[in-house]
Amino acid sequence: MSEKKVPPPPVLPPSIKLTENFCLFHKGTIQGDIYICPKCKAKYCLECAKKAKLNGQLCMKCKQLIIV
Ligand SMILES: [Zn+2]
Ligand SMILES: [Zn+2]
Repeated sequence: MSEKKVPPPPVLPPSIKLTENFCLFHKGTIQGDIYICPKCKAKYCLECAKKAKLNGQLCMKCKQLIIV
């Protein structure tokens, strides 16, 4: 029985800081225009908010309807 070589795990980027401009929909830094939840003030990309609205998704934090 020959041992299978397991590839090393991918190197994780240096600790990602949860910045103010972190979009919870695409899990990354907000690009372009910002959408702010009217209830909890969570920030999202405007584009992600639009998509979320089309998909019937709610604010990831407070479940408020997305009003774009
Ligand atoms: Zn919210
Ligand atoms: Zn986004």
